Amino acid sequence: MTTPTGSPYAINWDVTYACPLRCIHCYSESGRRAASQLSLKDMLRVTEELISLRPASIQLSGGEPLLVKGLFQVAERISQAGIPLALYTSGWLLEEAMLPELLRLFTWVHVSVDGATAGLHDAIRGRPGSFKRALRALTLLDGAVAAARQRGDTASQFQFGIDCVVVRSNFARLEEFCTELAPRFPQLSFLTFQAAIPSGLATRPGFVEHELLTDEQAHWLASDEGRQHLSALVPGTVQLQLSDSRALQMHPEHFASGTAANYLMHVEADGAVRSMAIYEGTVGRLLEEPASVLWERALQRHSDPFVIETLTPVRTMKDWAEAARRLDSHFGSEEVRARIARRPDYFPSSAPAVRPPIISLRKPAPWRLETEPSQEP
Ligand code: SF4
Repeated sequence: MTTPTGSPYAINWDVTYACPLRCIHCYSESGRRAASQLSLKDMLRVTEELISLRPASIQLSGGEPLLVKGLFQVAERISQAGIPLALYTSGWLLEEAMLPELLRLFTWVHVSVDGATAGLHDAIRGRPGSFKRALRALTLLDGAVAAARQRGDTASQFQFGIDCVVVRSNFARLEEFCTELAPRFPQLSFLTFQAAIPSGLATRPGFVEHELLTDEQAHWLASDEGRQHLSALVPGTVQLQLSDSRALQMHPEHFASGTAANYLMHVEADGAVRSMAIYEGTVGRLLEEPASVLWERALQRHSDPFVIETLTPVRTMKDWAEAARRLDSHFGSEEVRARIARRPDYFPSSAPAVRPPIISLRKPAPWRLETEPSQEP
């Protein structure tokens, strides 16, 4: 990905902070704060600003986007503009009646699943029944895509997949996604494993020590070894994507090597544009200033002396979380700092129980020594 000039390559818009789930790693703290979502009229104004940037894709996220009345009107406008559109959902609210619009307006629907069993998924996602609802959503999507393909209609552009946020509790069980979960959905297009980012609730004391991946685990997730191991297990029709999330760190060395995700604009629920996608701090609101002006302002933050000084020494996941806390505190508004101060710490006693993987790894892996016996319920 090249350094952006006048426009972001992709835009992520958290359209609401309302959410029926309470995930332990939630970067946006959704469900625990005001929804902050805009009226439909203002959402459509923001939509026009985003379209004016002509990004390669727009992602509607949250919170739970399917809670937002008018979501499909926003999607309709983006679709009319010819910009590929993604939806990120827990699947909790996905209903059969939505399927025609989802297949018509969106290019990708990502359903979040953090465990291949109800026990693990529901514990990470913070709500009993969330696994069942996610699988129901995947089943509905699978059926709709199969029917559309049978009819030979234009829905062949549409893809849906599973996104897994990788934390220590599910790291030793990623194989189950490939062997148990993915095969249940013959039309599934992709399966994504992305390391939890130290952002929002994932920067909390306790979470970093007990759930943020170790450096060794994060390295494995981004390695050829990890890719080859999981690729051998996943159905051949499913595209496997793995990431240690470090591209979002905005480390000066990543800029130098061209691996920083400096192409992503992040829009908050009230239309404010973040200076950097995963850290607190905004550069203005799309209802008040043109998107192109805000994007240029956001890019300038990368060379801010405090940002460089804070991120340059970062080497480990723990360093990253500490840097994130410093940046959030420095650039966050008074309201943001008050919200951060109210966050409850994360205690290991509330961590999801971890069982041994049902599939044996071909060779012993170092993380298993750490996670299996000590956290067995
Ligand atoms: S991670 Fe997503 S599904 Fe979970 S609480 Fe946050 S917004 Fe809701």
